[in-house]
Amino acid sequence: MQPVPASEELFARAQRVIPGGVNSPVRAYRAVGGTPRFITSAKGAFVTDADGNELVDLVGSWGPMILGHAHPQVLDAVQATAARGTSFGAPTQAEVELAELIVERTPIEMVRLVNSGTEATMSVLRLARGITGRNKIVKFAGCYHGHVDSLLVAAGSGVATLGDAASRAVPAGPGVPDAVAADTLVAPYNDRAAVEKIFAEHGDEIACIITEASPGNMGVIEPGTENGEHFNAFLKRTAHAHGALFVSDEVMTGFRVTRSGQFGKDGVEPDLMTFGKVMGGGFPTAAFGGSAAHMLHLSPVGGVYQAGTLSGNPVASVAGATTLKLCTDDVYSHLDAMSAKLQQAVTTALQAFGVPHVINTANSMFSVFLGAESAVTNYEQAQTQSQEAFAAFFHSMLDQGIYLPPSGYECWFLSAAHDENVVGRVIDALPKAAAAARKA
Ligand code: PMP
Repeated sequence: MQPVPASEELFARAQRVIPGGVNSPVRAYRAVGGTPRFITSAKGAFVTDADGNELVDLVGSWGPMILGHAHPQVLDAVQATAARGTSFGAPTQAEVELAELIVERTPIEMVRLVNSGTEATMSVLRLARGITGRNKIVKFAGCYHGHVDSLLVAAGSGVATLGDAASRAVPAGPGVPDAVAADTLVAPYNDRAAVEKIFAEHGDEIACIITEASPGNMGVIEPGTENGEHFNAFLKRTAHAHGALFVSDEVMTGFRVTRSGQFGKDGVEPDLMTFGKVMGGGFPTAAFGGSAAHMLHLSPVGGVYQAGTLSGNPVASVAGATTLKLCTDDVYSHLDAMSAKLQQAVTTALQAFGVPHVINTANSMFSVFLGAESAVTNYEQAQTQSQEAFAAFFHSMLDQGIYLPPSGYECWFLSAAHDENVVGRVIDALPKAAAAARKA
């Protein structure tokens, strides 16, 4: 591993005052070892670390940076807005514009802005429970919806990466009351019989099914189609047959996999949706929405309470709105083309070194399950990947200036700034990394 003294010093300082030295667990490199790179600046497809290494960024802040870093038009809008004041705790034009853009690109009629994906899913569950008067929810093993108590049960992302520390003792991990966890019913992803069984047993107690629209937090898992019916269509049909709502979490996929998100691919209209990441353009804003009839159950019109001091923040809203306006059809075509090219190159390199692997894809996000010998369609199969092979691959890429997410349970994200040249740099680094994975 390349020495990074400046990051090492910052990490030592950080560990004295911040648990594990990070403000979100996966950043700590627990699964791959080594010192997390402290980032000092970023531009386009690159991040620069505290030691001055310029790295091709395939994390993209875990999804938001779809246009690349420090996009000039987003920065201009942010700076102009911030110069007029940063928070008023009163309505602004910026939040109306962002809400209109979200409504225009998705099947929802109304949206409420919040500050994180976690807040969006937490609020959407309260709304679903408020509308139906029921308490139980159904989620899928390996899906991550933020660190909401009831959604940490069998969760993906960092909970999957750090599984032994966070999630083995009790279903949702220490700190989540058993009574809360008991209201979360879990099925394996893509398993229709398991969903039907849960509804047969608890149908009239279930408020909603919540699913990642196209999962990316156990690595990318593609929703299956059986007898011509998309998995999301099956979920909606099953929920509705029992008076429950179908909630699609598009925090990761929204405005990324198409101009609307996964909805743009499968056309299944959810009752309620959540968004985050891309819609904030790198600022902390997120949203949940649905039909007017459902959303008007929210306070101050309806009785379901939900609020936020910084919700609809003008700087975040303008960053998000500017980002969405710049996400044209050309951007999505470019992202899809670059993603396909990179995936092909990964397969070619791994095959050349005889490394078994599976690549799952959702357009400009994809995952490489190193060591997996057959299709990966759920969390259990995702766990067949080799952590050792991933760590070796990851560090080889990092030493060659390519910044991947530090876990095999996450996805690689591309941006509009990843052009042929940048993708070429990633491709050039692949053979060495494949050789390292082979040896591991
Ligand atoms: N839902 C999904 C699908 C996510 O991917 C994430 C974050 N990775 C969240 C919810 C939580 O969002 P946040 O980290 O902004 O709380």
